[in-house]
Amino acid sequence: MTDKITWLFILLLALAVSACSQPKDPVFHDQFFAFGTLIDITLYGVEPGIAETISSQIEADFNALHTEWHAWQPGPILSLNEKLAQHRPATVKPGIIHLLAEANRLSLASKGLFNPVIGNLIELWGFHDNALPIGTLPDSAAIENLVAENPAVDDITIESDRVVTRNAVVAYDLGGFAKGLAIDRAIERLRDSGIEHAIINAGGDLRAIGQRGERPWRIGIRHPREPGILASIEIAGDDSVFTSGDYERFFEVDGKRYHHIIDPRSGYPASETTSVTVIHSDAATADAAATALFVAGPDHWQIAAKNMGIRFVMLIDSQGIIHMNPAMQSRIQLDPELDATVILGDPLQ
Ligand code: ADP
Ligand code: MG
Repeated sequence: MTDKITWLFILLLALAVSACSQPKDPVFHDQFFAFGTLIDITLYGVEPGIAETISSQIEADFNALHTEWHAWQPGPILSLNEKLAQHRPATVKPGIIHLLAEANRLSLASKGLFNPVIGNLIELWGFHDNALPIGTLPDSAAIENLVAENPAVDDITIESDRVVTRNAVVAYDLGGFAKGLAIDRAIERLRDSGIEHAIINAGGDLRAIGQRGERPWRIGIRHPREPGILASIEIAGDDSVFTSGDYERFFEVDGKRYHHIIDPRSGYPASETTSVTVIHSDAATADAAATALFVAGPDHWQIAAKNMGIRFVMLIDSQGIIHMNPAMQSRIQLDPELDATVILGDPLQ
């Protein structure tokens, strides 16, 4: 009997020792769908139970924000747009007012290249639908008419909880920066819970804080035309990396690509850019800036970056030429196999 107990004791001790010596994976992963894309959460060094809880809270937040900020499904933005289209003042709750004010501020900084009130143009192009239009171009006169009405955020006045417009063709579409703002909220939630090492990645657009143990986070940037990675960036601290590309949502008519980033000045998809990647501290600004610099194109991205306070930019133009500023070049590792011309611009400051 005593022998049995001794053996049992030795066995339990051996099990306990082996459990302790098994290194636990310090990286937690979770994925879910929101904002029409796969959201990927990576946490480092967080106890699994806590990681599970916080990850489901973030999922719930993303789903709530996606519904609340939706441009064409019933919700506060759609009701706001209906009122603005009738020249009627709209009363909006504080969370939404903050969102609109932030969108307006970024639009003014971009000198209207990021324009969150061109919802009517986006709708005309058929992008207000989960399915893409196949083989149909919008009526060119309808586009010209909308562009001539020049919907812009300075047509809009926000007074406490009221939104009024001088221009009935404005319609909010926050698709160009909502994902960024949602990622910022998620990072805030993580920090409030004491989590300091994490990546929130929404289909390749992400914000990373802290690092992966002893090493920085390593981020891949997708090639705009081929499967695989074009470049990688290391992050240790707090940075957002956002890419706007003509490959995210597009359709083709007669072999020509029509994508979802619209130049508000022409009413047509911005045609000289294939993709723009920016690095910036907060994700909302990075998201809006990637869209704005995409519209600015290979000849004007530097001035747009300066206007928006962006310090790291890589733009691939429609010829496949890579443009970047020296600070970006010192942070990015291009795939060594890549056969592309790189044009290094002047420093941005
Ligand atoms: P993605 O969301 O695919 O990463 P973007 O951040 O560039 O790409 O956002 C594109 C979306 O932004 C479009 O689907 C549309 O809703 C909206 N949008 C298109 N053109 C503009 C623009 N010039 N300014 C602001 N928003 C835009
Ligand atoms: Mg964007």
